[in-house]
Amino acid sequence: MLIFATKLGYQTRAFDEAAKELGVELAFVTDRCQRLDDPWHDRALPVHFEAPEEAAFAVMQAQSGHRVDGVLALGDRPTLAAAYAARGLGVLHNHPASVEACRSKLRMREAFREAGLPVPWFRVVTLQPIPEPSLMGISYPCVLKPLSLSASQGVVRANTRKEFLAGAARLKHLLESAEIQATREPNLDRMIVEGYLPGREVAVEGLLSEGELRVLAIFDKPDPLEGPFFEETIYVTPSRMSEAEQNAVKKCLAEAVRALGLIHGPVHGEFRINEEGVWPIEVAARPIGGLCARALRFRMKGQNETIGLEELLLRHALGLPGSDASREERASGVLMIPVPASGVLERVDGVEDARSVAGVTDLEITARLHDYIAAWPEGSSYLGFLFARGETPGEVEAALREGHGKLKFAFSPRLPVEHPVTKRV
Ligand code: ADP
Repeated sequence: MLIFATKLGYQTRAFDEAAKELGVELAFVTDRCQRLDDPWHDRALPVHFEAPEEAAFAVMQAQSGHRVDGVLALGDRPTLAAAYAARGLGVLHNHPASVEACRSKLRMREAFREAGLPVPWFRVVTLQPIPEPSLMGISYPCVLKPLSLSASQGVVRANTRKEFLAGAARLKHLLESAEIQATREPNLDRMIVEGYLPGREVAVEGLLSEGELRVLAIFDKPDPLEGPFFEETIYVTPSRMSEAEQNAVKKCLAEAVRALGLIHGPVHGEFRINEEGVWPIEVAARPIGGLCARALRFRMKGQNETIGLEELLLRHALGLPGSDASREERASGVLMIPVPASGVLERVDGVEDARSVAGVTDLEITARLHDYIAAWPEGSSYLGFLFARGETPGEVEAALREGHGKLKFAFSPRLPVEHPVTKRV
């Protein structure tokens, strides 16, 4: 089983554990710098995800003589290399063009529009230089987004011309930063601008089997996501929406995956719901990210023990029995701990208090002490993840809010870094 991942960490470790349980041999493919961080798993193959066909070729060479039965990608960046590699290895997977459409916020809007799905107005706008919005037919409120980043990084709402210009300048600055330039993503000199969609938002976890979609969970996002920035906070499942609304969301996901041509493996989608109906915001050809998968437990038929999403996905990818397991009956949720302001994380207090809140099942602070962490829109990593379970979604939400209230994070400002002067000899 091949797993493509940008980071080797909590998520890949969970796959490693599930694989050991199943007696499955995993090989990781990663673009993490091998010199900086010693691989914890000795079979990690280093590749560059921004060159997906070359990455796939390297994987095929490295795997020659080994049997590969399944391919999975974690996170957005590795999905294309995984699709090419699966193709080369003859493993059932999504077509690279479908995965590519998921990686581009522009291609996705075009695919949805071509398929007759509801889409807001959208335009690609250059950032070199930032144009006068009134000449581009921009109306307000609108949302400015990079074409290919993820986790809401760089996504900004603008209600006025002034906010548009400030948001565009901020996005330009982010896309020109050394960190983003190092990703070598295409189209870092432009953005997509689209109409702001009011409404509630949900996230949906799905699993495709040769074109057939099964919805594993619908997560409500009870905090309003109205901008100006869009970091996530609370996800709770099962959804408190009516059955009719949930069915409309499921139908929209099925139409969206068909529009994109996705056929096999995990999908994760975001949708907005308002009086005009269900609007697909985006669909990714990968499972839910970060540690959020821990909020999902599944029960196989006739079994008391539950399994995690990782085991379910391994079973599915390898054609083992049990991938039809359904989510446990209890309500469950996760809070992605937001970053209140950019700075160096100096101290975290209240961890034990948060853990002892009734209903809270787990807390993982993933930000490292004494490291700089950026708030949104520049940021893309959370301070950590808080998990709760309960009888009802309301109980879970309350536990997450109470637990979060116990946590205190102390930050100090980042001191300006002095760049060493390189002398010419
Ligand atoms: P990413 O791939 O970085 O997560 P998305 O396109 O999914 O980017 O946008 C991130 C978030 O920004 C969405 O989950 C949603 O809350 C908000 N958002 C994006 N586009 C719109 C829109 N047109 N109207 C309202 N909110 C939006």
